[in-house]
Amino acid sequence: MEDCLFCKIIAGKIPSKRVYEDDRTFVFEDIRPQAPTHVLVIPKKHILGLDQASESDAAIIGYCQLVAAKLARERKLEGGFRTVYNVGPDAGQTVFHLHLHLLGGRKMSWPPG
Ligand code: 5GP
Ligand code: ZN
Repeated sequence: MEDCLFCKIIAGKIPSKRVYEDDRTFVFEDIRPQAPTHVLVIPKKHILGLDQASESDAAIIGYCQLVAAKLARERKLEGGFRTVYNVGPDAGQTVFHLHLHLLGGRKMSWPPG
């Protein structure tokens, strides 16, 4: 999608610190990290957000979680980690291309702020 920040990052039109890439996903460091590990796992397909996803997106939504778990293993986040899809204004979603936050490397509180 032409005017989408994350589509531009996938296409390399906007620079990012790439962590991992395969045929379906692109992973890069969040520009404002909230934990020692804070990366964004995004589908290459432009999906606005979890609330806009359809059943045909089920596989990619789940696959993003598996990619996050793989990276957590690689980064030895043995103490645990968190994966988050922020959806809509109350959750603080600011970019409207589906993205899974992977956070880890520090103790996190619950409930989240
Ligand atoms: P949201 O608030 O929508 O759940 O998450 C968007 C995330 O994208 C934020 O954590 C923000 O720091 C990150 N972000 C926004 N713009 C950029 C950018 O240009 N590059 C990178 N690497 N991350 C970005
Ligand atoms: Zn996009």
